[in-house]
Amino acid sequence: MIDLSIRGGIAHIVWNHPSKSQNLINDESCAAYFEVIERVCTDPTISGVLMSSAKSDFIAGGDLQWLLQATDPALMQQRSKDWHRAQRRLETCGKPVAVAISGSALGGGLEVALAAHYRVGTTDPKARFGLPEATLGLLPGGGGTQRMLRMVGAVAALPLLLEGKKLRAAEALQHGLLNAAVEPGQEVDAALAWLQSDKAHAQQPWDRKDFKLPGGSMSSPGVVQALTVANAMLRKRAQGLQPQLLDILSCVVHGGPCDIDTGLAVEARFFAHTVVQPACKAMIRTLFFGMQAANKPAALSAGPQPTPKAQRVGVLGAGMMGAGIAYAAAKAGLPVVLLDATLEQAQRGKAYSEQLLAKQLARGDDAARQAQALLARIQPSAEYTDLTGSDLVVEAVFEDRALKARVTAQTEALTTADTVFATNTSTLPITGLAEASKRPEQFIGLHFFSPVDKMPLVEVIMGQQTSAATLARALAFVRQLGKTPIVVNDSRGFYTSRVFSTYVLEGLALLAEGVAPALIENAGLQVGMPVGPLALTDEVSSELIARIDRQTQIDLGADYRAHPGHIVARQMVEWGRIGRKSGKGFYDYPADAAKQLWAGLGERYAVRPDQPDVQDVVERLLMAQCIEAVRCLEEGVLHSALDGDVGAVLGWGFPAARGGPFGEIHSQGVNRVVQRCEQLCRQHGARFAPPQRLVQMQQRGEAFYPH
Ligand code: NAD
Repeated sequence: MIDLSIRGGIAHIVWNHPSKSQNLINDESCAAYFEVIERVCTDPTISGVLMSSAKSDFIAGGDLQWLLQATDPALMQQRSKDWHRAQRRLETCGKPVAVAISGSALGGGLEVALAAHYRVGTTDPKARFGLPEATLGLLPGGGGTQRMLRMVGAVAALPLLLEGKKLRAAEALQHGLLNAAVEPGQEVDAALAWLQSDKAHAQQPWDRKDFKLPGGSMSSPGVVQALTVANAMLRKRAQGLQPQLLDILSCVVHGGPCDIDTGLAVEARFFAHTVVQPACKAMIRTLFFGMQAANKPAALSAGPQPTPKAQRVGVLGAGMMGAGIAYAAAKAGLPVVLLDATLEQAQRGKAYSEQLLAKQLARGDDAARQAQALLARIQPSAEYTDLTGSDLVVEAVFEDRALKARVTAQTEALTTADTVFATNTSTLPITGLAEASKRPEQFIGLHFFSPVDKMPLVEVIMGQQTSAATLARALAFVRQLGKTPIVVNDSRGFYTSRVFSTYVLEGLALLAEGVAPALIENAGLQVGMPVGPLALTDEVSSELIARIDRQTQIDLGADYRAHPGHIVARQMVEWGRIGRKSGKGFYDYPADAAKQLWAGLGERYAVRPDQPDVQDVVERLLMAQCIEAVRCLEEGVLHSALDGDVGAVLGWGFPAARGGPFGEIHSQGVNRVVQRCEQLCRQHGARFAPPQRLVQMQQRGEAFYPH
């Protein structure tokens, strides 16, 4: 676990977990570490301490499985205090401590390093240094808030602590988080050389590590301003859903003015508060374990042969989505033929990549240096013959079944029998579209989200005849693009559009019932969604919602069930208020000012005198999504609750602090959710009826997740 050897008076501590690929901090490794610290501090033959790792990274941080299971704040506070005591013992034992950091030092790993007197990192371009705990609902509880604050000052520490930014070696050097960065493989020698130099012993006494608060003391005007801004920003950003952010800020405010030991005691208290919060569990579960599982889908390695990666990609349709997909593929190093009805349109699609790269260059983004090579990989075209040789084609033409059938046939006439054909349709069932294909086993849905360059999720949809090999190749392509896939079975709206639309439609139904528009929008923000349902409808456009509804009505016939929200969307279209793209929807969008609610809205949808409590509206907007997500699971559209949570958070901005719709049910408890559904069903209709799956879980006392 932790090896110790002593040579020439230097103790060499090597973190080396025997059964894990990474070093993690948990009860077991803490016990071993504390023992080693005691030994090096008390052994009079030891005059200096070198610490390194036998793994490619230094220490990956706290063991998240261990933290996920934490339920007792008193116990966690004690764990944090024990850790602080051991770190302080090493820091003040009077012997110089140097850390050689192989690869990255993040979270607990960096906290170990910050307690040393000298830190050597490497220039490995993949190496990162930072405290990303906040991004997983956590708080650096191993001294990170206090040492970071004292080493870089409050103004620089706040974004590093609250946003969890991961720094490259050069930035870490600038901040003083690293003392040196050497070629990979040289770090142990460099740290040892420092320990053996006069410098290591010149800065006596070692028991008074000279912490400072560069950039002014805690009460300087600059720091006070930074704290005020941070406080306002994070309250707005997290809508009170992410308690770790306020707790981190509290560590800075309360711990900063004190001596380091008092500061560490403050940190232990807030760490214990944070780590048992439902938001912390939800974020670790979805953003770490959920994404880890989604990025290693079993289907990718299902076959006996390794899955071939895409070599040459065709994209049909150079509109908003096609242009974005072409950019993403070219960025991943793939040659792309971007095809549209005319060469001009195809060139316009390529110009989108030029614009994106120009913006990145203006921001000083390193990656944009490859701009010319990236652009050279995109070949605009209006000739289907240029698709010859593509092993994967993504179709992103207009959402029109007949057109999609035509381009499918045209493509198949020119590509080989093993070319994968992926459609980016957002609403049309895959099995139906595959009827136009001679090779339905090669036909699959790859649902990208807009804007493609920013959105991390791809929903991979299996048609009834899609083969396992096609799925594996589609997943390999998604991985090549650096995106996270969730695999779902075919359904109207698949998983993401189907559940996301319930949020929008419920907002419209509330409006029709006479709930004040501002209350609806505010409730949407309190759910934690990036925008309220009315503003979102304007973005999507009422016209599109009404069009999809009309198509559903035709396809389902007698089985069609109208949602009251659809009536509102249809009315908005009749009144010519289709949404943002026309400058008029629930809001007016003046060219030179911020959007404002449409003044005429009150005449169309009278606001009733008795308004519901905002929390009731929040719950309705949440429950609508949770119920539809469970239906997707019971119908087999989703393979797991965790897939559903990952898809919700990455796909439509469901708040990570709630984990996702299943995470929300888990936090509230299945029993309570079923009871609320029954009440809502009585008040607002059958769309709120609790799904059978939930009722069964209630009867059996089951939960979606163990923690
Ligand atoms: P768009 O209108 O911006 O682009 C469609 C493009 O297809 C146009 O450039 C058009 O010229 C081209 N096209 C038409 N006929 C063609 C043909 N015969 N051959 C080649 N190209 C042809 O549409 P979009 O928003 O990019 O959507 C494309 C697809 O992606 C649709 O199926 C849509 O449902 C789906 N989708 C859209 C979004 C979104 O947010 N817009 C998100 C996910 C999926």
